[in-house]
Amino acid sequence: MPIRQLPEALVNKIAAGEVVERPASVVKELIENAIDAGANRIRLTTAGGGIGLIRIEDDGTGMDERDLLLSVDRHATSKLADDGLDDIRTLGFRGEALASIGAVSAFSIASRPADAATGLSLVLDRGRKTGPTPVAMNRGTIVEVRDLFAAVPARRKFLKSERAEAAAITDVVRRLAMANPEVHFVAEGADRSPINWPGQAGDGALAARLMQVMGGDFAANAVPLAMARHGVVVAGLAGLPTYSRANSFSQFYFVNGRSVRDKVLLGAVRAAYADFLFRDRFPAIALFLAIDPAEVDVNVHPAKAELRFRDGGGVRSAVIRAIGEALTAAGFRASSTVAADVMDAFRVPEMASAAPAATAPAYASRFDVLPDEPGRSFAGLSELSARYEAPPATANDAEFPLGVARAQMFENFIVAQNGDSLLLVDQHAAHERLVYERFKAQLAAGPVPSQAHLIPVVVELPEDDCSRLEEAAPSLERLGLYLERFGARAVAVRETPAVLGQGDVEGLVRDLADGLAEWGEVATLSDRMEAIIGRMACHGSVRSGRRLRLDEMNALLREMEATPHSGQCIHGRPTYVELKKRDIERLFGRSR
Ligand code: ADP
Ligand code: MG
Repeated sequence: MPIRQLPEALVNKIAAGEVVERPASVVKELIENAIDAGANRIRLTTAGGGIGLIRIEDDGTGMDERDLLLSVDRHATSKLADDGLDDIRTLGFRGEALASIGAVSAFSIASRPADAATGLSLVLDRGRKTGPTPVAMNRGTIVEVRDLFAAVPARRKFLKSERAEAAAITDVVRRLAMANPEVHFVAEGADRSPINWPGQAGDGALAARLMQVMGGDFAANAVPLAMARHGVVVAGLAGLPTYSRANSFSQFYFVNGRSVRDKVLLGAVRAAYADFLFRDRFPAIALFLAIDPAEVDVNVHPAKAELRFRDGGGVRSAVIRAIGEALTAAGFRASSTVAADVMDAFRVPEMASAAPAATAPAYASRFDVLPDEPGRSFAGLSELSARYEAPPATANDAEFPLGVARAQMFENFIVAQNGDSLLLVDQHAAHERLVYERFKAQLAAGPVPSQAHLIPVVVELPEDDCSRLEEAAPSLERLGLYLERFGARAVAVRETPAVLGQGDVEGLVRDLADGLAEWGEVATLSDRMEAIIGRMACHGSVRSGRRLRLDEMNALLREMEATPHSGQCIHGRPTYVELKKRDIERLFGRSR
């Protein structure tokens, strides 16, 4: 076949393949147009997951007859100046959305600018224009898209169920709503649960919109981001590590008001949380970047979902710093939903239906209370692992955020009181974090101080474990662990990190060997260092099962208050939970 210029309708259909992947992409393009037109209120109606109908009504500027006729032509846009792509401040700019959508659907667009007496409606039937004809309407634009892909059966086949397509549309609406808090969003239709998010104004607009979209639970478990650095302004909400998720669905990234997927941002967020989360956990985050439009190329993806930063390194470090500082400012705070989970776990014991009179003596004999002998522990309880010691008389528990230790339970949980709160602290998890942070501080200051063993500790291990340890020896030495090969199947440990104290050297070395095998080549050196420190910290921590004296417990609480991130252990689990007196009273039905 000789080469020929393709007819316009076919060109549009080809372009539609890129721009209009599924109903949600139509919704995205149309809402973006409404936002670019300065709409205050956008109303979306869908049917059949958007395959049957997508209707979008806005109260933006509208178009006059000339613009309306041009709007559905390919490469027709009001958003680009002649001199190119360097300064894009609108969501659209490619001028092909309406033409593409019109090529693969039954399409109509009606519009009325402020100064016109009526609106005009234009119909596109497989790319052929009919109209415009006058219609009665308010100021703004109404676009209707029916029977999407009816003439493109190949594309129809790739669509998911109507329910899945409806969910994808909702996701698009959520993202656009987050990026445009001042706009009122309404979504309705038989295929969805309705959305009605009135526009937000003023300083707290973004936070209020995030509450609408992501729910109060997220907002209560997140810290605000605010930082300007390397020409990047970072805003939004970063979820506390204890509020992490098993997938990345709760991550939202925006650059200059555009929802994007971007490796630089994903990587930066992952790095910012690396200290707090295991690799299979994902923080919830809504991250908004504002950056000089000339510093980012948005024209690398037909649906404009990806972009390229000119200075990716600068963006990365700004994001890491912003999140790091926000989490540090949150200090030892753990997520409030943890406390809620605890509340749920408490069960009011099933009361026997026996007469209440019978229960009182039963309790008394069971606990064998001997009130007239102070200092003597309750019989029966003394053999359990609860320990009670009178608090020092001078301590004012409300002075300290984590309160004053009152007791230790099950040889691992410190019970503390702070004014109106009861705190339960996981001593092992907390101590692990403290050792980890101390370790990192020491490493940053130079080689980690070590303590020498008079007689080297010889640990026997399989040959390949020994080789891996030998290979890692230079990194390990920077961390204060000095070991060398000792024959084919053993290593000799001469010095161990001082922060770990008199730990179980053999256990530490075996655990490290396991870790090195597991991380293999995949991890980068700095990832590996982090992981090694994590393993080591675990060995230096007060194991659960160790009894602590009250002064030791209080020392631990005070150190937690002074240590960044001590609200989470290095695996992202909380190190303490807090129950308000009010919550406790609720458990007993005392307040309502
Ligand atoms: P782009 O948004 O990339 O410019 P589109 O095909 O989406 O391309 O739209 C073409 C043009 O039609 C826009 O540049 C704009 O001038 C006009 N337009 C589209 N939708 C609307 C709307 N809802 N309100 C006002 N003008 C619109
Ligand atoms: Mg557009």
